[in-house]
Amino acid sequence: MSSFVPKLLVFFLPVICCVCMGCATARPPAIPSGPETVVVDSAEEVQVGRSMAQLIIAPRYAPWNNSVEQRRLNAIGRKIAAASDRPDIVYHLQTFDSPDYDAFALPGGYVYLSRGLYQDLDDDGRAAIVAHEIAHVAAYHTVKRMQSVLGDEMFVGLVLAGVGQKDPQIIRMVAGASDAVFDLLGRGYGRQDELEADALAVKYLARAGYDPYALADTLEFLMKEKKKAGKAFEILNAPVRMSERIRRSRKEAEIAGAGFGF
Ligand SMILES: [Zn+2]
Repeated sequence: MSSFVPKLLVFFLPVICCVCMGCATARPPAIPSGPETVVVDSAEEVQVGRSMAQLIIAPRYAPWNNSVEQRRLNAIGRKIAAASDRPDIVYHLQTFDSPDYDAFALPGGYVYLSRGLYQDLDDDGRAAIVAHEIAHVAAYHTVKRMQSVLGDEMFVGLVLAGVGQKDPQIIRMVAGASDAVFDLLGRGYGRQDELEADALAVKYLARAGYDPYALADTLEFLMKEKKKAGKAFEILNAPVRMSERIRRSRKEAEIAGAGFGF
């Protein structure tokens, strides 16, 4: 078991015990957490993402088994990740077999795109979607949002499940969070986070050698093809008018592109 787990266990052991014993009145100990505070470090965040990928996403999203396109997507992901503000994380990109348009990210760098979206975009468009989702991870939007909504108990359960803690009660607890996680993934983030993710995405696109206007173009395309979007497509569910996002993304691209010869 990794060294960060004892640290968490000391912190949260009373919580875990109460959860495991079904203590309905248990409250987490006072911790310095809040919507703007992440109580886990990067390694723990990766464990949370791995748990979610294995226990929550995998049972519902069948992978699109196309090794050629998966390699192509991985190459895009590597370039965007290297250009991002968190290049230290190993990003895992995965297409899932759905004709709908959909994309989302989990804490720790697990990024998903639907087959339908992947197939209808070119590489610049795919890079734009990947850059937007990686930006949510790089700016800690994903981990903060999950933690603040799921709560610290669930979060620790996800860390423990990710490091191989096979306690059936923890596994059940995590699986029970499935609906809440999907709800969260589909609702999009707050206005500020979405605008920040768009601005960062444009920067990453330019740094990685993709067309910095690709995000604005892709958002425009998605507006036109809205009917193809799945209900839980966070990019389209963002609480910001799409026309404003497109305008801002073009402006960001002008600035970013000027420095990269576009
Ligand atoms: Zn977003």
